[in-house]
Amino acid sequence: MKKLILGSFCLLFFSLILEGQKQPESYCGYHEKSEWLTQYQQNPDAFLKRKSGAITYLPMAVHLVGKDDGTGHFPPRQVLDALCTLNSDFEDSEIQFYLEDEFNYLNNDAWYEHDFRGGRDMMVQNNVPANINSYFVDDPAGNCGYYSPGPDALANAKSCSGINDHTWAHEVGHLLSLPHPFVGWEGTDVNGNQPAPIRVNGNLVEFLDGSNCSNAADGFCDTKADYLSARWNCTGDGESRELIDPKGESFRVDGSLFMSYANDACSSRFSDDQTDAMHANVLNRRPELLKNPTPLASIDTEGGVQPLTPVAGETVSTGEVLISWEPVKNATHYYIEVSVFPNMAVLFEREIVTANEFLMKEISFERPHFWRIRPFNYFDFCTSYSDIFTFNVATASSTKTIEAIESFVVSPVPAESGNDLLIQLTTDESFSVNSSLISLTGQVLKTENLELNAGQQQFKFGLPNVPNGIYLLSLQNEKGERMIKRVVVN
Ligand SMILES: [Zn+2]
Repeated sequence: MKKLILGSFCLLFFSLILEGQKQPESYCGYHEKSEWLTQYQQNPDAFLKRKSGAITYLPMAVHLVGKDDGTGHFPPRQVLDALCTLNSDFEDSEIQFYLEDEFNYLNNDAWYEHDFRGGRDMMVQNNVPANINSYFVDDPAGNCGYYSPGPDALANAKSCSGINDHTWAHEVGHLLSLPHPFVGWEGTDVNGNQPAPIRVNGNLVEFLDGSNCSNAADGFCDTKADYLSARWNCTGDGESRELIDPKGESFRVDGSLFMSYANDACSSRFSDDQTDAMHANVLNRRPELLKNPTPLASIDTEGGVQPLTPVAGETVSTGEVLISWEPVKNATHYYIEVSVFPNMAVLFEREIVTANEFLMKEISFERPHFWRIRPFNYFDFCTSYSDIFTFNVATASSTKTIEAIESFVVSPVPAESGNDLLIQLTTDESFSVNSSLISLTGQVLKTENLELNAGQQQFKFGLPNVPNGIYLLSLQNEKGERMIKRVVVN
């Protein structure tokens, strides 16, 4: 088992190194302006409009695509970070995304690294109806991301979906009808030394003075002229190098728009007209997304997360161990990480659980373990980690923390509320201990003093009437050393 674990560590290290090497050839694979947007821009008054001041909540289905062998999925921690960034990016637009269901894990080499056709198959087969469908893969057809209008879903590269990346916001913008501000220029380099042509690839080129803004490029008059269809870095004031419009006017492109190709550090907003169009697109073209959910309150981690079991510094036996913590206000889910490294660099376990406990099975590494949790709910992903907690693991024969106790067995399993527990002990010498029944919230439910004699002995410990669940039976000597057994009441 140890070998196997070490082997998987190496694999993990290796895949961590491999990850992030792949650079997409192009930023975005969607180059269109939708017919719906053209009609909307011709007569916005004919469309339902948003009520400013009210947040629109849209359901998001997150698909995490791995390889056939079940590896390579975008890690849950990073999905939570990406969801947080997405909601921050849409906050000013009064649109927020929530989950209706857990992440959908898919294992398929042909989807993990796909061409547009493979991506289309993936979307058609897995889209969740009446949701915005987002797929996280290793290679979305050579792009950082793209929106596919046929299956009406988007695919993002894991490597372009970090906490400071805005690819997801950009692709959701496409899904909600927004083109690039430079639409028409895709794949064409602009020559900044001479005036741009009147048309590029059949599309009108936008003038700097705004005189053709409603029918050139993206059709939005509050997005400035933009001819840059390759990723670019903004200057200190958030603009591009100098370009010349068809009338001979010099200008610099505004890098602040998510829909531009300015680098992630430059972009921070949708324009008002873009925001209105996205809302109109939802109201008129996607009413099935409007389910009026009752948003869950934000996670409240004031006072921090309190660990329950194992007790801090406790030595537990190899086998299985129950990690538990006090419930966090408003949390419906917890992401837990367990590592044998104090900096959590390589994870032993990573799971999302819905209760405030996690049963770790087959723990066999005899060394300190470290764990932390990140509470969240389906509306609030911008949460931080708890402190890192630790416990020791040793083989069953060496777990005793009260030296003089050789064996400590509690039965029956499960126990019955109101009935007796049987405590069987073998000790080296005579001494007294406090035996306590403790709830997982740390409440001491009953304490009894036991006088131990050298040799074998047994005691009855009357269980109080307690609800079904998991409790701890603790023995503590005068030096403060203790031993703990789990008691299941059913
Ligand atoms: Zn794009």
